[in-house]
Order: sequence, then structure tokens, then C-alpha cells
Amino acid sequence: MITDIKGLHHVTSMAGDANENNAFFTGALGLRRVKKTVNFDAPEVYHLYYGDEVGTPGSVMTTFPFGQMPRGRRGVGEVGVTEFAVPKGALPYWAERLGSRGVSGLTQDSFLGEARLGFDGPDGDSFALVESEAQGRVPWTGADVPEDAGILGFRGARFRLNDADATGELLGFMGYVKGESADGVTRYVIEGGNAADTIDLEETPSGQAAHQGAGSVHHIAFAVEDRAAQLEVRRALLDTGYQVTPVIDRDYFWAIYFRTPGGVLFEIATNEPGFDRDEDTANLGSALKLPSRYEEHRAKIEALLPAITD
Ligand code: ZN
Repeated sequence: MITDIKGLHHVTSMAGDANENNAFFTGALGLRRVKKTVNFDAPEVYHLYYGDEVGTPGSVMTTFPFGQMPRGRRGVGEVGVTEFAVPKGALPYWAERLGSRGVSGLTQDSFLGEARLGFDGPDGDSFALVESEAQGRVPWTGADVPEDAGILGFRGARFRLNDADATGELLGFMGYVKGESADGVTRYVIEGGNAADTIDLEETPSGQAAHQGAGSVHHIAFAVEDRAAQLEVRRALLDTGYQVTPVIDRDYFWAIYFRTPGGVLFEIATNEPGFDRDEDTANLGSALKLPSRYEEHRAKIEALLPAITD
């Protein structure tokens, strides 16, 4: 069994308009944009990172805003809900704030005793704010969300699957412990990691398959401390029969990817080196950062990307 996974690292979704996306995460949700770079495999598309002050692993929502991309269709075989943690008692503030900004899909309920506010993202993405213990996490207050309500990072994620067993088995192999179930949803928790420590599996045997597009989660990344731990995890996954990519340098972390039995694309990402490797903390996310191989094409790339109005 793998013992190096520390909870979530980041969640990456496909999106439509870059400005709408930026305004939603930095404006409506009050996250900090911690990096403005490009999709390393398609540099004519931004890769935007939003999180806490420094982009602590477990707080980082990232998007590929493709522009005119058609919306995805929610269904099984995907991350159905991306869940952020907020302080206890903060949901009335958020219901009012998101409602007044015209955010759709607002629903309030609870799961395993945690109060939740569900809402839609700008491309029909499914999100929830979950009242949680801070566990030492501090929200970004550079926007206008007060500290006693601000997003602390991720709580976790809920997957929708035709058959939860194989994914549950994989999570167990990754160090997650099967917890309680309610309403056809089973919780898996990682112990001794960061606070983004839950994965909930919702089994819908006859559900229609998801179709990826804007608003769909592209992949979900789990955190490991460093490259040595990542190599251990990679070896363990390969030994178990998973097809895992080589280690890829993403400038702010190293990444490996593999497709899981339920259809969700998993990444294992290192906590090192972090988002301040090429910008100081005060200026994170302000300049367009390119991986070194694209620097010589900077002018052409900048001309292709829409200007983002902060
Ligand atoms: Zn990723």
C-alpha cells in the first residue's frame, strides 16, 4: 500500500471564457490567482491557478479556459463535485453573496453532518462549499471576503461512478480509509495528510456517461511531498498494473498521470518547488509566466491569448 499521498494537490477543469473564469474565482469566490501561465501542451490556451496566498497544495483550483469550447455534460465517470472548505457558520454569508451575484444552482444540504452549499461555476461546473474545521488553514483576504468566511482550500471531491468498487479499491491502495456511507455515497479519508482529505464516491449504476467539455474536471491531482515520494508512488502503481506516465516537469510541481478504472484521470503532483519559484509572494499570478521552451515564442503566444482584465 502507498503511504505517501497527502490529500489533494489541485483540481483542473476545462473552461470557456478566460475573463469570465478569472472573475468567478477571484471575484465571486475571492481566491487569489497564484499563477498565470499557459497549458504546457497547448500554449495558445491559458493555464490559470487560483488558491490561497501562496497556492498551498490542497487549495489550488486550476483551469484551461479554451474560449469557445462547448459545455460538458455532467454524468458518471467524472469528478462530479469539487468541494471547497469554509469556516463553520460561513454558509449564510456565501448563500447571500453568490445569490446576489446571480450564481445559479444554489442548494443547501448536509452530508455526514457537514453543512454544504452547492452552486454552479461559470461553465456549469458543480461546486460545493462545505463548513469545516480550519485545521490551521488561512483564507486569502486580498479580495473582499472576510477571514471568518473565506475559502480555506479544498474539502475534497465527489466522484460519480457506475461502479464505485474498483475506484474504492484504488483509493484504499493509495492510503485512503473507507469511512461512512449515506444516500448512496461512501466517504474515503486520508489520514496524516493535508486538510483536503476526503474523496466521496457516489455510485449510480444506470447513470449516463459524462461528456467532457467546458465545466468538466479534466483531472484531479493528489499531493506527495517530493520527487522521491513520487517515484515510490509511481513504482507501486506500475507494479499494480496501472499505466503511468513518466515524470513531467510542470515548473511548479512534478507530475505523473494515470487513468483510473472509473474513468477519472488522476495525477500525482509534488509539493515542491511551489508557485513562488519564479515570482515573489507579493506578485504571484500577475505576470504571464511561460515554461522556458516557449520563451522564444512569447510575442506570438501573447498575441493569441485574450487579455485578462483583473
Ligand atoms: Zn494537474
